[in-house]
Amino acid sequence: GATGDLAPLDASSMTVEFTKSPRTVPEPMSAETMAQKTCTDHMVTARWTVEHGWEAPELKPYGPFSIMPSASVLHYATECFEGLKLYRGYDGLLRLFRVSRNCERMRKSAARIALPDFDPKSLEKMIIALCAQDGAKWLPKERAGSFLYVRPTMIGTDAALGVQRPREALLYVIIACFPDMSKSLATPAPPALTGEANGAAKPQTPGLRLLASGEDTIRAWPGGFGYAKVGANYGPSLVAQGEARARGFDQVLWLFGDESYVTEAGASNFFVVMREKESGRLQLITAPLEERIILEGVTRASILELAKDRLAKSQNDVEAVEVVERRFTMPELVEARKDGRLIEAFAAGTAFFVAPIGLIHFRGKNVEVPMDGGDSGVYARIIKQWLVNIMWGKESHEWGIVI
Ligand code: PMP
Repeated sequence: GATGDLAPLDASSMTVEFTKSPRTVPEPMSAETMAQKTCTDHMVTARWTVEHGWEAPELKPYGPFSIMPSASVLHYATECFEGLKLYRGYDGLLRLFRVSRNCERMRKSAARIALPDFDPKSLEKMIIALCAQDGAKWLPKERAGSFLYVRPTMIGTDAALGVQRPREALLYVIIACFPDMSKSLATPAPPALTGEANGAAKPQTPGLRLLASGEDTIRAWPGGFGYAKVGANYGPSLVAQGEARARGFDQVLWLFGDESYVTEAGASNFFVVMREKESGRLQLITAPLEERIILEGVTRASILELAKDRLAKSQNDVEAVEVVERRFTMPELVEARKDGRLIEAFAAGTAFFVAPIGLIHFRGKNVEVPMDGGDSGVYARIIKQWLVNIMWGKESHEWGIVI
């Protein structure tokens, strides 16, 4: 766009106004936290107009916005967002995990829906300023090993019904109290909703239970916007997600095409460990980015890098794996399961960390995924521990950004 003379997003010009009515912090697993409605005391906002560019960001009390009923976002889904966590480390420090990646991804998402570009470093500074402001109170030192959820968002606020690029936008960052989803996964589905006869998952299976999507629910397609974190990807997924839940599954496994390519699981990336048919080599496989139908998860990228680095050679009884980004299909997984070559599968993303998968329901049949006799496969366990160590400061690593 013609951003040449316009004001850039500038975190150093941020104004600050503290709340006059600070609120109480809810307990980590309380009903209030589970409801995911509680945000911290402050937020950061920055307004953009096509005439001026970015106005000075404001750190101010969390509260409602006023936008016109004709605002672009309310009609044409000109909205994108990010999701990352603020971690309270075991060393007492607050950390973000690779926050620069979220800021870069948000630029790509914004570009896909004609929202304005911005300096990602400035967004990063705004996020850090808000985390520094609210982190001490909302993530107290006694809560080592816990986290808050940070949600940067941008919306088109143009008050004009014409279908056009927004001429006005609002970028903002809020922080929410969020339960540990990886813990809630241990809860079995309600018994009334389960039973093989209805094609439902068995409640006693450990790990995530996935329902493979059918032909009538396609999450993303080539030339679409599956690679972008835009709200328009999530609203239309809720019916399928609700149906999966009602049948006793945890998440939808999003398939694509007549071949049933495996793409993503719920709002997380999908990994499988399989032994290659011909060579017998062990491979860690995830769907590729080229077709632009999956979101490039920060967790996904981190797992690929760590696994290439740390699992290239066998060690401590753990066999080496080759790391592969390629297309793979459900029939391929079914065949590998029959041959005993399917070793494990897991979902990976900010909300669920690394969540082992116990079962996939595909075309009326349950494919049980091995779990190494416990509640996680070996590779999911190792990889999760690496990430946990970096996020909560047990391992000093450049990906852990201290606030
Ligand atoms: N896929 C989708 C569709 C998602 O919404 C998310 C969550 N952002 C992910 C994958 C995982 O991405 P990340 O590891 O960055 O959380």
